[in-house]
Amino acid sequence: MPTFKGLSTRCVHAGEPETDTPQTPIYATTLFTFQDTQQLSDTVAGRRPGGLYTRFGLNPTIQALEAKLATLEEGEAALSFSSGMAAESALFMSHGRQGVITLGDVYGGTLTLLADQLPTLGIPFFPLLGHELDRLEETLVQGPKLIFLETPTNPALEIFDIAAIAEMAHHHGALLAVDNTFASPVNQQPLALGADLVMHSATKYLGGHSDLTAGALIGPRELLEPINAWRKSLGSVPAPETASLLARSLRTLVIRIRQHNAGAQQVAEALAKHPKVTRVLYPGLESFPGHDLAKRQMRGFGGMLTITVGDSGEDATRFVDRLKLFALAPSLGGVESLVTQPLTLTHHAMGAAERERRGISDNMVRLSVGLEDPEDLIEDLQQALEE
Ligand SMILES: *Cc1c(COP(=O)(O)O)cnc(C)c1O
Repeated sequence: MPTFKGLSTRCVHAGEPETDTPQTPIYATTLFTFQDTQQLSDTVAGRRPGGLYTRFGLNPTIQALEAKLATLEEGEAALSFSSGMAAESALFMSHGRQGVITLGDVYGGTLTLLADQLPTLGIPFFPLLGHELDRLEETLVQGPKLIFLETPTNPALEIFDIAAIAEMAHHHGALLAVDNTFASPVNQQPLALGADLVMHSATKYLGGHSDLTAGALIGPRELLEPINAWRKSLGSVPAPETASLLARSLRTLVIRIRQHNAGAQQVAEALAKHPKVTRVLYPGLESFPGHDLAKRQMRGFGGMLTITVGDSGEDATRFVDRLKLFALAPSLGGVESLVTQPLTLTHHAMGAAERERRGISDNMVRLSVGLEDPEDLIEDLQQALEE
């Protein structure tokens, strides 16, 4: 397969086999058989491509998906996982053992793993919020060798300067891994900006239809090798059926993300004019604090936006419950529009003081703008804002 420059072309063709079908068949098998011992030994040693044992990721359907994932982030190679959290677990086990620094808000599952679970295995955790960025250098001096961050963050869509943070990490012999779930490779390519590894919850935009759970890590082979060893032992490869479904979804990634971007921009601009909406956080609005940085390091501003409605948590809950087209559900990144109120779902267990420290107000509402007509979405939001 020749290497194509354009991202859309790569989404369609990269990693696909040179056979008489445009798709990689689903190898619904746990094992592969060999002509003789020489062939088996060559496969085990990595001298011969192809299947060996599916839990090792050595299954052509999984390998085809990984070739596609690698080219989308312009990485040397990729590993796929049974979920985003499976990818993170293998990442922290392999590269985070001397400690993990997070910057800004991170996904709730990430926080549980790093704050509550990995410390019991002796892995130290150094969480820094956006306004504590000036403490990054002194924290790196304490010895952690992995920085993990999301940009834009959830739910406040804070933007971090990937290039500047990568430089500081490298100065201290540490790695930077970026959770690129919110942006997708269409809008942001952290490896090109200097990050060492990119992680995805493919459950979100990469899958894009809320019908599969998967994860990915992309980067240089040298860094993926120890992660792969953990993936083998944790047993967290995706099923070949899921790998095939994800590869199918990736073929339409570029057009989906472009429409998510356009729809979210239109919704954000309409809501910014509404008197009951006190704040609109969307990187594509000129009024957004991180707009200039987002413009520099992103090619599109994404499908996620966060607003504050009225004066209280009750005002926001009333609004959420009146929405008809936006479904109330966790998760994001699918073709259908979704809504959550951090107070009642993602940040409920955190407690009021910690929410305040993180700048998460009771009346915040997070919208995942799907692929419906933006006019219909805006009409739904406006009717829900009326008393
Ligand atoms: C959903 C999500 C995860 C976890 O992914 P799963 O596929 O649910 O395991 C990690 N990071 C971000 C930003 C997410 O949105």
